[in-house]
Amino acid sequence: PDVYLVQIHTKLETQVPLVRNRAFVNGEWISAASGKVFDVIDPANGKIVGSVPDMDASDTAKAIQAAADAFETWKHTTAKERSYYLRKWYEVLVKHHDDLATLITAEAGKPWKEAHGEVSYGNSFVEWFSEEARRTHGEILASPTRTKEMILIKQPIGVAALITPWNFPIAMITRKAGAALAAGCTCVVKPAEDTPLTGLALAQLSQEAGLPKGVFNVITSNRDHAPEVGKLLCESPLVAGISFTGSTAVGKLLYKQSSSGVKRLALELGGNAPFIVFNSADIDKAVDGAIASKFRNCGQTCVSANRFLIQDEIFDVFVDKILDKIKTLSMGSGMDHSCSLGPLINTAQAHKVNTIVLDAIKKGAKVHCGGRPASSLGERFYEPTLLTNINESMMCYNEEIFGPVAVCIRFKTEEGGVTIANSTRQGLAGYFFSNDVPQLWRVAKELAVGMVGINEGIISTAEAAFGGIKESGIGREGSHHGIDEFTYTKYMCFGNL
Ligand code: NAD
Repeated sequence: PDVYLVQIHTKLETQVPLVRNRAFVNGEWISAASGKVFDVIDPANGKIVGSVPDMDASDTAKAIQAAADAFETWKHTTAKERSYYLRKWYEVLVKHHDDLATLITAEAGKPWKEAHGEVSYGNSFVEWFSEEARRTHGEILASPTRTKEMILIKQPIGVAALITPWNFPIAMITRKAGAALAAGCTCVVKPAEDTPLTGLALAQLSQEAGLPKGVFNVITSNRDHAPEVGKLLCESPLVAGISFTGSTAVGKLLYKQSSSGVKRLALELGGNAPFIVFNSADIDKAVDGAIASKFRNCGQTCVSANRFLIQDEIFDVFVDKILDKIKTLSMGSGMDHSCSLGPLINTAQAHKVNTIVLDAIKKGAKVHCGGRPASSLGERFYEPTLLTNINESMMCYNEEIFGPVAVCIRFKTEEGGVTIANSTRQGLAGYFFSNDVPQLWRVAKELAVGMVGINEGIISTAEAAFGGIKESGIGREGSHHGIDEFTYTKYMCFGNL
C-alpha cells in the first residue's frame, strides 16, 4: 500500500483499518453477493488506493431492508438521544480529522490543505445537526371551535436513500446523513464510485461512535451498477425519500424513477454560477474572491464561479489582475502540501474540460493562459486557464465547466449584466462584487439563484440553507431547513372536548 495509507491504518483505537474493503450493512462489513470488487484510483498518479465491493440491486435490497428494520426502533428514539449519538459521531470524526483528510486527498486528489478544510466542513454538519435535532418541534394551532384542539407535529419520513458525488467525499454525505438521522430517519448511502473509501471510513467511525446497527448503511457500486442500484432505491416501497447530489442528467432520471411511488425527493444538481464584478467594486477583493470560488477543488465545485461577468470600465484591469494570480497557482499532487491545484477526478472529467475549452477556442475565445492538459504531470491534470471573447454559443457559457477554467464576459449596464447572469437553465449560486449600496440589495434580489454571495466568494456553511432553483434542483440542505427534507408534518385534531 501507499505510504500515506499505512499511516491511516495505524491510528484507529480499535486497530481496525480506516480504509475498508467491504460495505457496511446492518452493522456488519459485507462483500457483494457476486463477490465482485472494483479498484479506487488516486487521480494524481493512477495508483490503486483500495478496492471495494461492486454491489448490485440484490445487495441494495439487503441494505434497504436493514435500514427499514432499524427504523422501527430509531423512530422511537427521543430527539435528545439522537442528538447524543450524532455528538458522539462528531467527536470520533474530529479525532480522526487527519486520517480523513489524507484519505480524501488519496482518492479525490484534493490538495492537502483543502482536504483538511473539507473535513472540518463535513464534520460541522454532524455537529450542527446534533444540536438542531433537539430543536425540531411542531405547532399548536388556534382552534376555531371550543370543542376541538389542533396540533401539528414533525415525524421522520422513514428510510432515506442518499446518493452522493465525489467532489466532497465527506461533506456531501454528512450534510444529508446528519439531517436524516437527526430527523429520526435511517439511511442507505451510495457514495460515488470514485470516492467510496471516505464513505466507508464514515461508516467505520459511526460504528466506533456506537450508532445502532442498520441506522447508517453504506453500499458501494461501480458505474455499471449505479443505474440498477439507483432504480431500486427509487422504486422500493421501503424507501421513503431520495436525496441526491450530482449531475443534472442523473437527477432528472431519479426524478422520473421515483415518481411512481410519489417519493420525497431532494436534488442538488449542477450550477452555472455567474460572478459579477461591477465598476464600483473593490477589484482586488473581487479577484481574491474569484480565485477562491473558481480554483477551489480544481474548479470541481457545484457553486464554483462558472462565468465571470465584468463591467466594461474595469474589464481589462480585472483580466490583468486575475491572470497574475492564476500564474501563482502551483499544480501537483495533493499530498505535496504546497500545492494549490490538484488533478481532476478522472480521465473522463479531464477530457470533458478539454472538450469545453477546445469548443470555446474554435468559436473565437482568446486564451490568456493554459488552454490545454498539463500532460507532463499526468493524464488527469489540466492547466489553469483564462479565456475571454466568450459568447453564448459556447459550451463554457451554458454548461458547468467543473475544471480550472475561468471565462470572462464583458457587460455594460447593471440590467445587462443581470440578464446575462440569469440567461442559463441553472440557478444554484451567484456572486457579485459592488460598493454601491442600493445596487447590493437590487441585484441580490434579481439574481435567479438559490444562494447569493455579496462581496464574498465562499458561502457554504452548516448554518445556512444550501440549494438551487431551476434545473439546479429542489430542496435545501444544512440549516434547520435540511431536517425538513426528512420529516413530514402530521396534523392531529382532538375533538369532543
Ligand atoms: P453523476 O451524477 O453521474 O454521479 C453522482 C452520483 O450518482 C454517483 O454516486 C453515481 O454513482 C450516481 N449515479 C450515476 N448514475 C446513476 C443512476 N443512473 N442512478 C442512480 N445513481 C447514479 O455525476 P458524475 O458523472 O460523477 O459527474 C458528472 C457531472 O456532474 C460533473 O461534470 C458535474 O457537472 C456534475 N456534478 C455536480 C456535482 C454537484 O455538487 N452538484 C457533484 C458532482 C458532479
